[in-house]
Order: sequence, then structure tokens, then C-alpha cells
Amino acid sequence: FYFVMSEGGASVAIVGGGLAGSLAAVLLGKRGYKVDVYEKREDSRSEAFQWEGRSINLALSTRGRKAIRKAGIEDKIVAQCIPMKGRMMHDVSGKLSYMPYGIDDQVVLSAGRRMLNEELMNVAEEHPKVKFHFNTTTKQVNVRETSFVAVDNDGNQSTVKPDVIIGSDGSYSGVRSALQHRKGINYSQTYLPHGYKELTIPPNSDGDFAMFTNALHIWPRGDFMMIALPNPDKTFTVTLFMPWDGENGFNQIKTEQQLMAFFESTFPDSIPLMPNLVKEYFENPVGHLVTIKCDPWYYNNTVIFGDAAHAIVPFYGQGMNASLEDADQFDDLLAACGGDIPSIFPKFFEIRKPAADAISKLSHDNYIEMRSSVASSLFLLRKSVEKLVHRIIPNTFIPLYTMVAFTTIPYHKVIERDHKQTKIFNRCLMLGTVALGIGVILVVPPFRHFVSTLLTDVRLRIRSTL
Ligand SMILES: Cc1cc2nc3c(=O)[nH]c(=O)nc-3n(C[C@H](O)[C@H](O)[C@H](O)COP(=O)(O)OP(=O)(O)OC[C@H]3O[C@@H](n4cnc5c(N)ncnc54)[C@H](O)[C@@H]3O)c2cc1C
Repeated sequence: FYFVMSEGGASVAIVGGGLAGSLAAVLLGKRGYKVDVYEKREDSRSEAFQWEGRSINLALSTRGRKAIRKAGIEDKIVAQCIPMKGRMMHDVSGKLSYMPYGIDDQVVLSAGRRMLNEELMNVAEEHPKVKFHFNTTTKQVNVRETSFVAVDNDGNQSTVKPDVIIGSDGSYSGVRSALQHRKGINYSQTYLPHGYKELTIPPNSDGDFAMFTNALHIWPRGDFMMIALPNPDKTFTVTLFMPWDGENGFNQIKTEQQLMAFFESTFPDSIPLMPNLVKEYFENPVGHLVTIKCDPWYYNNTVIFGDAAHAIVPFYGQGMNASLEDADQFDDLLAACGGDIPSIFPKFFEIRKPAADAISKLSHDNYIEMRSSVASSLFLLRKSVEKLVHRIIPNTFIPLYTMVAFTTIPYHKVIERDHKQTKIFNRCLMLGTVALGIGVILVVPPFRHFVSTLLTDVRLRIRSTL
């Protein structure tokens, strides 16, 4: 059921028509609000559009899927994605090992950012009161007056005064900057000492995928790593994550020889797969990895969500999922607000802030897991045991990754539950190891003989001392 505003109801300006902003436009449009989306880029559906190539594909999991289901386009999106059933690890010798993400048919989808954004814009525009203004940058956001200046590509300026401003303008949000100028708003911005560079693995000579299709490929190398996600055009988008400086840092690779020597010693099996490695490496920029925290996310009639409120590092593949979940839960609250949108801001913040902080922490922690732990056989063994236990008692024990990627348990509850589970799991593991040890002693003949001789010896000594 959707509450439909009468003509003249609240007008909403969404700043930023990326993933979170476009989904918010769909959901507000469905409820009958007048929505204007201001997007500084060209419409990617137009012929003039030039793709700037930021993280071409994204891992879409349960939370994001639930949100786009609300927009009515889940099946359409899923049909254009590539399912990834697990991680395929490449060691330095090129040996592969595989770890499924979940059990049975649980998959993470490799989704094209552009495709997803365009499908969301298409469905948003089906609502008569939703309008996108492309090539329009917003400036001078005034959260006290609920206004901003919209500037188009020709430099034409107009002052916009909507009833509500939603800032979904990404990590370097201008709406958030305006909020920060108010007293009582906390803010932090932390850069990782690592950056990322995108490269490509084209199709092989048969025109097919050059590696196993249905996996996220990882080359874990301790302090740095490379990953690759499949695209429907049979390419893989490769992302190299490395420190900016120091040994194995981007700044150390200045020549083609240095690049090839580095790849030969660290990712040799990838070299034949990347014929454009040298060109792409030196042409493509290195991106920053930033974590943003802000508190609260609203003031007066202005609210922020998505990366604008909580940019996180990408190592859990959850930034977009969390941003879409923001829009989804914002919409749940709208259902009961009776048209007074700002009245839901405090509740929205109360629900989403702990979740955002939790996924921020989990994403940091997962970088260590991805670049290092997955290379350890003990770690992989433990993950297999966890999956086995989950299969036996699926509702009692849910592995951490499964909770994050395949459930909608709030992220902070995921952490709480994982702490409890890990404690019990470790105790059981210890007891199991002790029981196994005793079993071995009692059953295997040489051990049994040793123990019985030892016991006889002890008995005799005790007797002789009495
Ligand atoms: C390398 C990398 C890999 C990632 N991989 C994943 C993944 O696998 N899975 C996942 O869930 N997440 C992933 N993410 C995170 C994901 O990209 C973001 O969380 C997601 O894009 C956030 O969506 P958003 O709509 O909040 O912001 P954005 O997608 O950044 O959209 C913001 C929009 O606002 C517009 N804008 C900005 N300023 C203005 C202005 N002044 N006026 C008008 N418009 C403006 C921008 O043009 C843009 O369209 C990854 C991120 C990176 C960097």
C-alpha cells in the first residue's frame, strides 16, 4: 500500500542520481511525491555519454536485491548479472583453490554499475512526478533555508527551494559539507594507505571468458591483492589494491620494466590474460579508498544517505548494498509519516547509523581476510567446517559472510551474533580436538600400549613408595 500525496504535496529534491538517489526517486515517486533529481553527469543513456570507468561492476547481494525488488526490477536486473558462487584464489605459482560463498544456490551477483543505475532511472521516470535534471551541479546548499543553487553545463544558475533535500551525492557530498557547517555535527574522513587501479581481462581467442566465469577471482598477496569480477561481455574487470607508497606500492612502479618485473614475481598467471596491461596500468588513475563517518545525518529538512553519509572501503562488497538498503528502510518509514518527511529523519538515523558503523568496521576487517587469510589452508579449513555446521544447524549457526551477504540481519546485529557464535564455535573446536586426541590414544595400538605401560609404571611407583 502506498500513501499518495495530493497535488501540491511535499516536493523533494534529490542531489545525486547515482544508485541510492535513483532508488530513492523510484520509491518516492511510487508514493506520489514530486521528485526532482539533480545529477551533475550526463545522462548515461544518451549517445553523448562518456563512461568514466569507476568500478564498472559491483557485487550485488541480498540487501541490495531486496531493495531493488521494491522498485519492481529485481528479475530484470538479475537477468543481466553474472552469478558468482564463490572465491577463486590464485597463488603465486598459478595454483587455484576455490571457496564457495555460501551453501547450495547462494550466489553474489556481478552487476554492471551503469546497467543498474540506468534501470533504476528508467523505472523512476515512469512516475509522472519524477524528473531527472542531468548536467546539473548543485552548489551552495543551505540547510537552514532548505535551498541550493543548481548550475547547468552552460553556466545557467537557478535557486531551488524544495520542501525536502535528500543528499545522495556520494563520498564527497556537497550536501554533507553544508550539514557540517552546522554546530553539533560530528564528521571524520579517513584514507586507507592503499589505493586501487582498474584493469581488464578481455575475452580469450574463442571469444569466451578467459577464466572460470562464476567466481570472484582473488590473487591474495599479504599486503596487497588483485581481484577480478566477470562482466556479461565476457571480460573481467580487474582491480589492483596496493599501498600508495613503500615496497609493492603504486609509487614504486614507474616504468614498463618495473611493472612487468612486479607482475612476473607476484601475479604471473595473470600476465597472458591481460594483453593491455602496460597501457591500462599507466593510463588508468589510482583511486582513493576513503571511510566517511558523520553524525547526525540530518538537519531541519535535509537528510543524507548512501556514500554521502557513510562511505566505506569496498572489501565486503557492501557499499552499494548498504546504500540501497538506506533507501529501502527510508521508504519503510515513509509509509507511516503521513507526508511529513522530515519527521522520520531521527528514526531513520537511529536505525541506520549503527548498521553503517558496523559494515564500515566489517569492511576494514575483510581487507585483511581477502588479501591475506584466504591464502592460508587452515583458514579455508575453518571456513569449510563453519559451512558444515551451518548446514547441520542452519538457524543456530550462520557464518559471518553468510549473515552479511545473504541475510538482511542489521549489520550491527551481525557483529553481535558473530561474537557469540565464534566463542561457542571455538570452545566446541577445542573440546573436539581434545576428544579426538583421547580417541586416538585409546584406539591406535602403539598409543594404547604406551598409555597402558605408563599407567602400570605409575601404579608400581606409587605402591613402592607406600
Ligand atoms: C573500487 C570500488 C569497488 C566497489 N565495489 C562494490 C561492490 O562490489 N559492492 C557494493 O555494494 N559496493 C561497492 N562499492 C561501493 C559503491 O560504489 C558505493 O557504495 C555506491 O556507489 C554508493 O552509491 P551512492 O548513490 O550513495 O553514491 P554514488 O554512486 O557515488 O552516486 C553519487 C552521485 O551523485 C552525483 N553528484 C555528486 N556531486 C553532485 C553535485 N554536487 N550535484 C549533482 N550531482 C552530484 C554523482 O555524479 C553520482 O552520480 C565499491 C566502491 C569502489 C570505490
